[in-house]
Amino acid sequence: MPKQMTKKQKDAVKRLLANDWGFGLVCFWCRQDLPFEQLTLDHLLPSSKGGSNNPENLRLACCQCNGSRGNSLFPPDQRYRSSSLNKSGK
Ligand SMILES: [Zn+2]
Repeated sequence: MPKQMTKKQKDAVKRLLANDWGFGLVCFWCRQDLPFEQLTLDHLLPSSKGGSNNPENLRLACCQCNGSRGNSLFPPDQRYRSSSLNKSGK
């Protein structure tokens, strides 16, 4: 189980995704523009399922999208489902 990230670590990853990776301050799922402080880090593969805290596994998301996904492997809206994450079976 990965360690919880500190706020400082989360902010650093948020900045990396928004600026260096070019995602901008936008929810990855619903494309809503949000202030930096209102964006959360959402795990593509939930940490409860072995997902890491590496930036490759993290995306910026609004609270609603992050919350509605919970520990699901899938985005809140199936339109955004990524085939790379669509593992069959358990
Ligand atoms: Zn959203």
